[in-house]
Amino acid sequence: MHISDVRKFLRCPRMYQYSLTDNQKSFPFFNIICDTDESIINKLNIKDYYLGQVNETNEDTLKGLSEHNWLVKARFSYRGLRCRVPFLYHEGDRCDLYFSSLTLNPTDGETDNILWTASVVEKCGLTIDNIYIIYLNKEYVRHGELEHDKLWSITDSFFNANGHASKNILGHIRKQTFSIDLVLDQLLHFDNEYDDTEVMRTSKCTGRSKCRYYERCFPEEKDMPDNSILTLVGSQYKYDMYRNGIRYLADVNLDRFEGSAQQYAQIMADKNNGLFFDKVALNSWLNDQTEYPLSFIDFEWDLYPIPPFDNMRPMEVLPFQYSLDIMQSDGSISHHEFIGERDCRQKFVENMLNDLPDHGTIFAYNALGAEVLRLKELSEQFPEYSDKLMAAAGRFVDLAMPFINGVVYHTGMRGLYSLKVIQSIIDKERSYHDLQVENGLDAVSIHRKIEHIDDHELKREYYDELYKYCGLDSYALVEVYDKLKSLV
Ligand code: SF4
Repeated sequence: MHISDVRKFLRCPRMYQYSLTDNQKSFPFFNIICDTDESIINKLNIKDYYLGQVNETNEDTLKGLSEHNWLVKARFSYRGLRCRVPFLYHEGDRCDLYFSSLTLNPTDGETDNILWTASVVEKCGLTIDNIYIIYLNKEYVRHGELEHDKLWSITDSFFNANGHASKNILGHIRKQTFSIDLVLDQLLHFDNEYDDTEVMRTSKCTGRSKCRYYERCFPEEKDMPDNSILTLVGSQYKYDMYRNGIRYLADVNLDRFEGSAQQYAQIMADKNNGLFFDKVALNSWLNDQTEYPLSFIDFEWDLYPIPPFDNMRPMEVLPFQYSLDIMQSDGSISHHEFIGERDCRQKFVENMLNDLPDHGTIFAYNALGAEVLRLKELSEQFPEYSDKLMAAAGRFVDLAMPFINGVVYHTGMRGLYSLKVIQSIIDKERSYHDLQVENGLDAVSIHRKIEHIDDHELKREYYDELYKYCGLDSYALVEVYDKLKSLV
């Protein structure tokens, strides 16, 4: 058992049970360019240390302790629960624990992992004097070789949402009331034939992150009709209403309707044969936003916690692809595209600025949190292009707005607002499911492979897949825009 098993068990025993037979690997969102442990060893200036190995026993670790002050990846276990301490410094039986975190802002979301690890370490006879988190320094900008000392920061406090140290980690851990033995008793006696008949939906199913087994626990929701009350977005009462026999959006109980614009659009769509749009608001939005030529652009990028190239900060992204469709006032469309490898930022910028018309509206989906942000980052990294990039950023318009603001809703969206969902309603002929690359994560995964293969034919195939995928995204923007225009 590892600490991740305990965390799953405490969140939901069923989740723990399902995870035991789940071999599905999750996609590594972060593209990590170096051995982070080595980097932190440099930061801490550790010269002599014991390096823990997989499956080591407490005896092995204690032997390491007797010979070294520093332990890296030290393995401890207690009643079958195994944990790994990233960095441990000790003198005698007193020690400091150092946890590493690929984040700019270590918050108390890390409490569980630290609490359990610290508990196992103390059960093994050590006394903890202090606990630190080593995290990424957001002020660091790479110039030349990585400077490990500047890349990382160290804190003994959790930070609040504003990025300020708010509570001492060890003090916070000491305040937690829990018994490691009690939880382990429950876990060790857990019946693996967990009752599969009655599944109760709780906030743990859909809380901060939706449980990966949600569809398995509630298969009926997959087959629910498009206008099911369960599609009502942001509603805390939808399950209550469902239990009370209300099945459809149109029948919503007004006492339990929170009244957001999105919810209103959903209910009205159900009352209007599946489609709602506020013609006046939509017409006015389109008139305000539309200046020809219209550009429809979509970027793909990879996320690097440790900056791989000059002028990049920790946790910045590197855009490696764009697809652009330009529509003239006569309706004609031209297509432009780009894919780069490794440090392709400058080529990306130059090609894009060259391809984009020097005036007119630029549409993207979720533009402010995505494409516009990328342009701001690129303008910091390449000040010589800053004026042009920021001028382009100022022309972006978010094509998601009419949907997010409840101006348009189709029940086929089923409470989801992604470009892919909306495109699938508008154009049933073209589908992302027909492509090898179906989503942004697939695109990142293929791009990471491209950078490491020499086989030209295979590389060409991968390029084609990426072009098709990103091309469908930019063309989906054109289709959504055309559809909105046709509505008014
Ligand atoms: S969906 Fe809910 S009940 Fe099912 S495993 Fe996840 S948390 Fe448990």
